[in-house]
Amino acid sequence: MTRTLTHFLLKGGRLIDPADGKDGVLDVRVRDGKLAEIAANLSPNGAIVIDVKDRIITPGLIDVHLHLMKGLGAFGVDPDIFGVGSGVTTVVDAGSAGHSLLNVFRNYVTSNAKTRVLNYINLSTLGGVTGPGYSILADPRLIDEDKIENAVEANRDIIVGIKIMATGGALGAQGLKPLERARKLGDRLKLPLLVHIGESWTRDTAPVHVADVLKYLRAGDIVTHMFTVHPGGLLDGNGKLWPQVRDAKESGVLMDVGHGLHNLNFDVARKVLDQGLHPDGVSTDGHRGNRAGPVYDLPTTMAKLMALGFSLNQVIEMATANAAKLLGRMGEMGTLTVGQPADISVLKVEDRDWKAVDSQKGIIPAHQTILPVYAVRGDTIYEPLTVDRP
Ligand SMILES: [Zn+2]
Repeated sequence: MTRTLTHFLLKGGRLIDPADGKDGVLDVRVRDGKLAEIAANLSPNGAIVIDVKDRIITPGLIDVHLHLMKGLGAFGVDPDIFGVGSGVTTVVDAGSAGHSLLNVFRNYVTSNAKTRVLNYINLSTLGGVTGPGYSILADPRLIDEDKIENAVEANRDIIVGIKIMATGGALGAQGLKPLERARKLGDRLKLPLLVHIGESWTRDTAPVHVADVLKYLRAGDIVTHMFTVHPGGLLDGNGKLWPQVRDAKESGVLMDVGHGLHNLNFDVARKVLDQGLHPDGVSTDGHRGNRAGPVYDLPTTMAKLMALGFSLNQVIEMATANAAKLLGRMGEMGTLTVGQPADISVLKVEDRDWKAVDSQKGIIPAHQTILPVYAVRGDTIYEPLTVDRP
């Protein structure tokens, strides 16, 4: 159910806003679509009171990697399913659109969504048209820097970076040349690169070594699928991080989970985490094919990270402050700021034993669930869609 209210109070919840260092029982007033007041024991003063006792209030959750062009290929999903329908207020498409589809993306996806929808433009003109199993970068004509620049400059408000598939399957005979071109383009447009690692699809080409990929990355660029079990991942044959991975992280390259159908493996995650490499962003890699499992939604993915040892406050920080940083959108999202349009998530955290399942059907015991309760954008309160979570 969706409600639009000019004046309401979220009352009695535990507010966790890591960017602001807040963690306590605080009420939140929303008036005329703006966050009007945060304080303990606020009196209604005419507001409609929404009881959120025993619930968690956070800045609007941010899912930094999904596939959101509904109808495009096998993956495209309506952004409001993983967005406000999952308690999440901001979702980011990872490369569905190349430059030629960007206006379509803007006019039919971003403009029609109830969720805030941002975009990583695909380096390849083909974007997600053909699906990830195709060699979308293997023909040099499929990268057109000038056209990408034009598309980016006309859409800076929604563009947060450039997506590149760093797999042998995608790069084909071009080898590392598309990475070199992506590097130059990122510098020219002052945009970070979002780089997919892990050979989940095509196996008829040699995998790209992550050390070769990292040579082209700088501070602020993002590696997604950090816990992939597929060739091209962060670990060597002995389960140790490649030294170049540690160097990259130290130099400011960011790491994103990108759960998806293929790329969250708990064994890999434990090894990576035990060696001290932590995620900067938590994301679902949500698409049409993983909503009904193993991914479900961002809150469930956050709960899986808790099963791997992170605290509730840590996973909330990943999905709010750290995600905003990763997107270069601090100040605009990721923290609760009085005076700005309301952008809030409300969650229910339950102590309950359940089995967390990864992309390879690996299971670890989990002891807490996170369920979406509301997503608030401006004057509108969205209740989540139902999905059969574990
Ligand atoms: Zn993806």
